[in-house]
Amino acid sequence: MHIHLSDSLTGGQETRVYEAELGFDLFDDGVNRYPVVRKEPVRLRITKTGEKRLLFEAEVSFSLSVPCDRCLEPVTVPLSYEVSREADFKEGAEEEEAYLAEGYTLDVDALVRDELFMHMPAKVLCREDCKGICNRCGANLNQGDCGCDRTEPDPRMAAIRDIFRDANQ
Ligand SMILES: [Zn+2]
Ligand SMILES: [Zn+2]
Repeated sequence: MHIHLSDSLTGGQETRVYEAELGFDLFDDGVNRYPVVRKEPVRLRITKTGEKRLLFEAEVSFSLSVPCDRCLEPVTVPLSYEVSREADFKEGAEEEEAYLAEGYTLDVDALVRDELFMHMPAKVLCREDCKGICNRCGANLNQGDCGCDRTEPDPRMAAIRDIFRDANQ
């Protein structure tokens, strides 16, 4: 959603409040794409803080579907955060901010996405004791044991063992 800023820029030093719909259904971090599975309207406050200066404050709440780090099953990750940015509109300064579109317009989605990276959890697990997937057959071990023999040592260890064996021959 885009919000025109001409009224805020020409008016007095006041705060305008908006509710904006989140316009994206997928978050692409350049490596993975995460579907948005829940979203609430963005609560936005635009305050004129000085001559050609605006403060944007947004309260954001939505959920992304992110695969579990161990078993890859989708996990709903709720995200809530606040974005606060002040922008200067003197002499084309607005062109440097990705969330400000041409013609004094705020791109709410870009403002929200701008800080999304910082709020993504470093680790996502479907549950604390997720057993992950079998390294032999790929079965989800949370759904029961697949019966594979996983006692075989790490292949890297096997390679080292081979080196010792060859050296002793
Ligand atoms: Zn899992
Ligand atoms: Zn297996």
